[in-house]
Amino acid sequence: MAIIMDGKALSSKVKEQIKQEVSEITEKRKPKLAVVLVGNDPASSTYVASKVKACELVGIESIAKRMDESTTQEELVEVIKQLNEDQNVDGILVQLPLPKHLDEQEIMFMIDPNKDVDGFHPINVGKLHLKQKTFVPATPKGVMALIKEYNINLTGKKVLVIGRSHLVGRPVAQLLVDANATVTIAHSRTTNLEQLCYQSEVIVAAVGVMHLVQKEWLRQGVILIDVGIHRTKENKLTGDISPDCTDVASYMTPVPKGVGPMTIAMLLENTMQAYKMRNAL
Ligand code: NAD
Repeated sequence: MAIIMDGKALSSKVKEQIKQEVSEITEKRKPKLAVVLVGNDPASSTYVASKVKACELVGIESIAKRMDESTTQEELVEVIKQLNEDQNVDGILVQLPLPKHLDEQEIMFMIDPNKDVDGFHPINVGKLHLKQKTFVPATPKGVMALIKEYNINLTGKKVLVIGRSHLVGRPVAQLLVDANATVTIAHSRTTNLEQLCYQSEVIVAAVGVMHLVQKEWLRQGVILIDVGIHRTKENKLTGDISPDCTDVASYMTPVPKGVGPMTIAMLLENTMQAYKMRNAL
């Protein structure tokens, strides 16, 4: 049976450290995160609420800018400009996806790279690929923190990343390469996924297909990191990897309580990083 990689426990530990750090700040101003939400997507509203709540828990100030579904590109750009200029705001996060009529790329480009705690600005994406200090996107950062917490050495390991999104697949593959793993990226056009899974010592699934990865595809002792989040018919949360893969894996992240809570903890870490950078602490 696999050792379950407890993302909830690690995220609590990280949050506790941040809370302590915030409480020791002697400057007049505490760190502050601005979260922008456009429209009424229920999942996005839930994510924004949990980010605001997490800030509260550790003493980071937050503002949630909730904007109407009909918001225009110009109106959103104006809000970003104001937040960029606001000296009391350290981090800006625009909850994705934006409604279809808005240009996500332009919005990402508008955010001040020094406040881009999601790490989606092209400058920060470039810095990540050049291995320069930057804001590492929260979910990939959370995956790497979990791997580190369990003392998993990636050097020379055959790692398969399933998914090539800008949010998860690509940045996590880059971080894994930087940790000396030999990385393969699979995606929707990959033809031999089962075979690739069987050859892999570590699999990071960020696909968005419920229980895509099956126990029969895996070799004994594989390490499984499940980024996917889905709701079953019974309204339970589950991932991209079939839960019974615990039978063959040596380590596995659960869903829920795996990568999900790590994402929020890493966002708080990035907000602290922005605050320290801006205050040159
Ligand atoms: P996405 O839809 O942007 O990308 C999915 C990727 O999977 C694509 O690159 C696609 O090529 C690939 N893919 C699709 N079907 C495939 C198949 N059958 N075989 C191989 N590859 C396939 O999604 P995303 O934003 O990267 O998110 C992936 C999953 O992770 C989703 O379930 C999402 O809800 C979840 N997610 C979780 C967190 C978290 O905090 N845990 C954060 C972000 C995303």
